[in-house]
Order: sequence, then C-alpha cells, then structure tokens
Amino acid sequence: MNTKSELAKAYDPKPVEERWGTFWLEEGLFTGDPKSPKPKFSMVLPPANVTGILHMGHALCFTLPDIITRWKRMQGYNCMWLPGTDHASIAVHNVIEKRLAEKGLTREKVGRDEFLHIAWDWKERYAGVITSQLKKLGASLDWSRERFTMDEGFSRAVIQVFVSLYNEGLIYRDYFLVNRCPHCGTVLSDIEIEHKTLCGKLWHIRYPVEGSDESIVVATTRPETMLGDTAVAVHPDDERYAHLHDKKVRLPIQNTLIPVITDERVEREFGTGAVKVTPAHDPVDFELGKKHGLEQVIVIDGAGKMTEAAGPEFAGLDRFAARAKVVQKLQDEGFLVKIEDYQHAVGHCYRCQNIIEPHLSWQWFVRIKPLADEAIRVVEAGLIEFIPSNWTKTYFEWMYNIHDWCISRQLWWGHRIPAWYCRDCGKIIVAMEAPAACDACGGPVDQDEDVLDTWFSSALWPFGTLGWPDETEDLKAFYPTDLMSTGFDIIFFWVARMIMMGLKFRGQIPFKHVFINGLVRDLKRRKMSKSEGNIIDPLEMIDKYGTDALRFTLAALAVPGMDLALSEERMAGYQAFANKIWNASRFVLMNLKTEKPAIKEAELTLADRWIRSRLASVTTALETSLRQYKFYEVADLLYHFVWHEFCDWYIEFAKVGLREGRTTTEAVLADALDRILKLLHPFMPFITEEIWQHLPGTGKSIAVAPFPVAEAGWEDTRVEKTMALVQAVIVETRTIRTQNKIAPKDKLRVIVKTAGVEETSALESEAASVKTLAGLESLEFAAALPEGEGLLKGVAGPFEIGIVPVRPADVGQERDRLQRELVKIAAEVEKIERKLGNADFVAKAPTTVVTENRARLEELQVRRDKLGQNLAALAERP
Ligand SMILES: [Zn+2]
Ligand SMILES: [Zn+2]
Repeated sequence: MNTKSELAKAYDPKPVEERWGTFWLEEGLFTGDPKSPKPKFSMVLPPANVTGILHMGHALCFTLPDIITRWKRMQGYNCMWLPGTDHASIAVHNVIEKRLAEKGLTREKVGRDEFLHIAWDWKERYAGVITSQLKKLGASLDWSRERFTMDEGFSRAVIQVFVSLYNEGLIYRDYFLVNRCPHCGTVLSDIEIEHKTLCGKLWHIRYPVEGSDESIVVATTRPETMLGDTAVAVHPDDERYAHLHDKKVRLPIQNTLIPVITDERVEREFGTGAVKVTPAHDPVDFELGKKHGLEQVIVIDGAGKMTEAAGPEFAGLDRFAARAKVVQKLQDEGFLVKIEDYQHAVGHCYRCQNIIEPHLSWQWFVRIKPLADEAIRVVEAGLIEFIPSNWTKTYFEWMYNIHDWCISRQLWWGHRIPAWYCRDCGKIIVAMEAPAACDACGGPVDQDEDVLDTWFSSALWPFGTLGWPDETEDLKAFYPTDLMSTGFDIIFFWVARMIMMGLKFRGQIPFKHVFINGLVRDLKRRKMSKSEGNIIDPLEMIDKYGTDALRFTLAALAVPGMDLALSEERMAGYQAFANKIWNASRFVLMNLKTEKPAIKEAELTLADRWIRSRLASVTTALETSLRQYKFYEVADLLYHFVWHEFCDWYIEFAKVGLREGRTTTEAVLADALDRILKLLHPFMPFITEEIWQHLPGTGKSIAVAPFPVAEAGWEDTRVEKTMALVQAVIVETRTIRTQNKIAPKDKLRVIVKTAGVEETSALESEAASVKTLAGLESLEFAAALPEGEGLLKGVAGPFEIGIVPVRPADVGQERDRLQRELVKIAAEVEKIERKLGNADFVAKAPTTVVTENRARLEELQVRRDKLGQNLAALAERP
C-alpha cells in the first residue's frame, strides 16, 4: 500500500472507509489476546436481532462504546469487544410464518423439522445483512469471536443453565394464568407486554339472585368472559350485599348457578361493588379462584377463539366477534343494564401490538426472587454503576417488585426445553441429553414441545460467549467485562437478567459500568417511525455524509440521560468539519519538507508554545470527560479546538514560520497534527487513519498508536494570555478593516494605547506576527491615542487601538459601525446577564462555565464602555 503519497485533493469518504475497514480486520487489530500482559478492557455487544436491519439506534449503540474501546486500545489496553447475533424466536417466526402463509401453508402443516430447516436456511442467508451493515459503522469489534445464540457451544450453555436451575428448584413447571399473544401464538413474560390506555366500554350486567326477585349488577370491560364466570364476589363488610352472602346467582346465557363469595380484595367503590369472577381469564380472578377453590372454565383458547365451553352458539368465534354477540344477547334477554365509556389500560404484545389474552396453561418459570436479591445487593454495594445514575432507581423499583419469569414459548425456533415426560408414569425428566426411556418405569418419553424465551439465552451472553461452562482462557481473561452500553428499554430484558445469571453462574458481576444511551429522535423530539415518515436511515446518511460525520454527530448529541434530537443539517455540519480537517492536513503534509524535523526549544514561537499548551489542556479535558461518558463534551471540545484554534489560528501563524524556513515550525505542525488525529480517532476512525498514514514516521495503524498524553510543562497560562492579547488585536484590526471596506492589500498603521506593563511588553514582543497576520505596515505603542488624526478606534482586550485611515474616514460610516457594534454587545450582555440571573443555571452548570460567563460579561462591559466613549468623541466632531 502506497501510504505516503499525497492526500487526495478532496475528501471522499467511500474509498477511505472501504480501505481501512478491510485493513483493520485483515490485520486483526481488534482481536483480543487472552494471554496479553496488558491490562484488559472487554465488552460484549448486546446481540443484534438476526432479522434486524440497521437503524439509528444501532448506530448510536455502536458508536458510543466504540469510542471508549478505541480510546482504551490506544491507551494500551488489551481490548476485546465481542459481537454476535440473537436468534430472536418471535421475530423469526413472524417472518417465516408470513412466508408460509403466502404459499397457503402454516407451520403446523409443514411440521417442526421442516420449519426449523427453513428457519436455519433463512438465518444463513440473511444474518449476514445486519452484520455487514454493522461493519460499516467502523465499530472495532473482535469479529473472530463472533457468536450466535443458537450456535453449538452457546446452546450447550443455555441447556446447562436450565438443568442447574431446575435441579436447585429455581426453575419449575406450573399451571398458571399467563399472557398469550394470539397472533404470535405464544405466551410472553410480563415485561413483553406493553400497557396502553384505550377508550373502551364498561358493560353493566344483571345476574338474577336465585330464589329471590333481586339481581346483582356487575360491570366488566370484557363481557365475552362472562361465559366463563364461576362466582360473583363482594366485600365482606359491604352492607348492600350482606344478605346475599352464600346465595347463588344465575349466570345469563349459560343459565348455570354460580356462588356469591366474599373477599377483602373486592373494591367497594368500583362500579356496583360486586364483581364477576372469571378465574381462567383474569389475573386477579385467577388468584381469587385459587383462594376460594373455584372452577377454572376456559372459554377462550390460545388463538383468541371461543371454546366449546363457551357454548355451541359461540364456539369457534373470534373473541371480539363473541363480545358483540354476547352483548346483543344480553340486551335481547334483558340482562344488560347500561353501557358506559371507560378508559382503561390494555396489555398489548410488544412484538406485534395485538391485544394480549390471559391464558391458563402449563408453563415453565424461573423462581426469580433469590436471583434478584443478589442482583440488588451488587448494585447497592456500588459494584455495578449505572450511568446516568438515575437509572439505578428504575432498576431497584423493578427488582424489588419482580415476579417469577415465564420462560416457555410455544414456538419452534429457539432452544428446546430439555424436559421429557414419561408417557406411562408421567414423570418429568430434565437432563442435558435426551433419555432413552423413563428412569422410573422404563416407559417411552416425549420432549417438551416448547422453546425457551429468547431473553433467557441472552441473559447468559456475557459468559456464555466466552466458552462457559468450560473454564476457557477467554473466560478467565475477559470476564467480568467492563462496560455494557445499551438503551433504557432493555434494562430489564438484558441488563438485570445478565446481572442475575452472571452472579449465579460465575459468582461475579458481568460488567462494571452500565451506560444507558438515549433514544434517537427527530429535531422536534418525536420518535422516529414509519408512520411519521421521519426516519433518518443511517446507511443513507453514511452514503451522503460519510461514517465519520454520522459518528461525530451522534457523539456530539449524546448527553447522558437525554434523548438525541437528530437532524441532517447537523451531519452536514460535521461533514464540513471532516473536510476542514482534510484540507488543513493537506496543507500541513505539503509543507513538511524536511526529512526528520527536530524541535529546537529556542526556536519555539509564542504560537508554537500556545498550540502545545492548548493541546495539553484539551488532552486533559478529554480524559476527564470521556471517563464520565460525556461524549458530547469531548465532541464539542475537539470541534472547537481543531477548527477554531488549530486551523484558524495556529496554521496561520505557522505559515510565517514556514515561509522563513524554520524546521521547528514543521516539527510542531507535524506533531500537533499527529496528536490531533489521535485525539479524534475514536470519534472519526476512518479519516484520521487515512491522514495519519500519510504522516511521516508513523506506525502500522493509528488504531493501535499510543493515545496522546498531556505533556508535563506544556500547559502555560502566561503563553495563553499573551496569545489572547495578540489574537484580540488581530481580530479587532480585521473587524475594523472589513467594516470600513479597506482592501486586504492596504497595509495599515496601528497605534496601541499601552495598558499594563506586562500586557504591553507581551504584545510588543509579538509585534512581528501581529503585523504579518493583521496586514500592518507598523504597530506602534503610545501612552495615549493621538487626537485629530481621524483614527478608526477599537478595543482589543485591555488595549484601545487606533487605525490610521488609509483615506480620510467617513465619520457617518464610522458612527454607524460603532452603533451596530454596541447593539450587538448589548444583546450579548443581556443574554449572559439573564443566564447568570437564573439561579437554576448557576446551581447546575459546571463552575468553569459559570466563571467563563462572568469573565465574558466583564470583558463585554469594558468593551461597551470604551466603544461608547469613542462614539461620544465622534459626535463632537464636525
Ligand atoms: Zn404478538
Ligand atoms: Zn415413567
């Protein structure tokens, strides 16, 4: 590879990304080494869904931890970041069953073996899509360790965990009321249900009391379930119903007798104070039914269709059709008292958004409390830290109120439950391998038809991917990992369960830091969705602006604890930043004429010392912010430093040195560029690699080059102060020049009114560079600015300056200029005063920000006063 050729004229991200993306992988630069003597830094990537296509959430979830990993790798850590994909049972079922349906088939028709064959085939063909899309983001993952939740080794870990937990009594089978999605055809766990408030109805139905003229009125949001009622419940102390205790009521339509029971859980204030009890179709009623020994009559099946038990008129009807029919019939027969509008929360499937059906069936559960207790303890003890820390509260709230976890799914794609049932004696055998026969009676055995919840396997991801249950080198070297970076929506799905399983099976936390990133929204802070038409596609953005611009945008918007408001304009802005870096680098590279330029301390100019001082303080600030995952702070810092200090100022100063043939200038330029590229590399890996490879004397790849440190002795406040004076005089001169339409070629005479001795002599010593950069014929110093020469006056830091006009000044024009300037200053003063007057801002903003604002305010006030005086002086002139 010819790496030392000239940089291309313009930056074209595509070939650059292609070239280095391949190079890094071919060279194995991201491959972790379990035998390395270096300190380790490891992460596992939350496995991406195999059915997935890349969205902005992925882009964020990859970019932020990649910044940390690249930074750590350059700091000399042995980094290992493991990628992989998740088999995503329900999502895959939805895809494949849809395809089967197109051919008039169902999974039952093709059978389990054929279905799995199709699913594997599909996985082999499409899993690569998401993987190759992820690679485009430049994440420095160790692809040599890529895993899949259903690969052989990982599957063994899953089965081993199931068997161990079962043997310990932490997994059990129970006949229980669970949530079922009729569309997905499986039960789900509690956290897979999304509760949405719907405008529904409350139907009041009259149940006649047997042997009396009275009726009890009950209210329900689901009248179709009344077909399965087995009691009516009232509060024992509710006097309205005291005389009806132990009576029976006649259930309309079904025409059966059901008892009136009393229970303290009945809310007297709700509706009429009497409630219908349907133990097979409502979680509260299920509990009541168990307590009172009520019959559980199933009238709706797992597919959402009415059963035989619902009666011949209803059997086979869809639950919503049955509802209409039940209501009609109740009305016809005079049992419907009234219908009210009613808002209530209804559970929906998080995958397909259909309404969940409570479903009574045999399922497998994890007894979660003992596992949760440990997982609470480690977070309380500070062994695991959430960033931002407010998520700790959310974590605790859920963990303290956790319910047993239903882990069986009526699906085929996934890890089949390792339980076998004896056909003869009914014994359940849970084992790693299929038993040949029942170990109690020798009878034939059948394996459980269900598979495990996908999230059951992903809970094992941090250790299952490293070879567990074998004590592998990887496991010893890389577990526990250091960081888990993820969205808040999966704190319970992933983070909490990974903590529980990691503690249980490794006796150690799975990760130390949990970084919770925000949601990527649009500029109006709306969620991105197809229906809103506001999706920003990361691949399209990469195509348009380059991966580095996309990455930098996401980092710049990543304020911990906040959602991101993404816009294309922002990306275009950082594309311009990439171009700026490119052009500045091209200039530097073209001017490196000397073979190995050395820095001679004596030759260092103010600008040289200044850029080194700035580099040192930026390096220190970056370290502090990145340790706290303040990506936005670092992005902002680098952007302003590189653009406004290095490109806008230092390069201008360096041009003087280069013209004079000073090799120290070359050396400082090359060194500064080298450091800047390294500081930027974690954020913009591609462009920095391309440029760095063109710098003389560099190594194999910037990705493994040592990260810059703040050199001792470089930070120099005196140098920075002097530079500020020099810059102020140059800026003010340029401003006056532009505002008075003086051509750049006209050399100016500038007179500076001396201020403090120290400031004045500092400025005097830099007169040569001020003259060059401001285009001056002379820079003179005087105790007072001469009157009567029609000077164009300005203020630069502590100095007043006067420019001798090239031609007689236009008083009117000059007055206008000063007035415009004063209006601008007044607006800024007001803005800062308002900020500083806001107690909330002063209390919450970092002290440095507050101090900076105060200093700026003072500076503006001085400037305002002086310009005001100048304006007054002008007014006195004819
Ligand atoms: Zn569903
Ligand atoms: Zn048996």
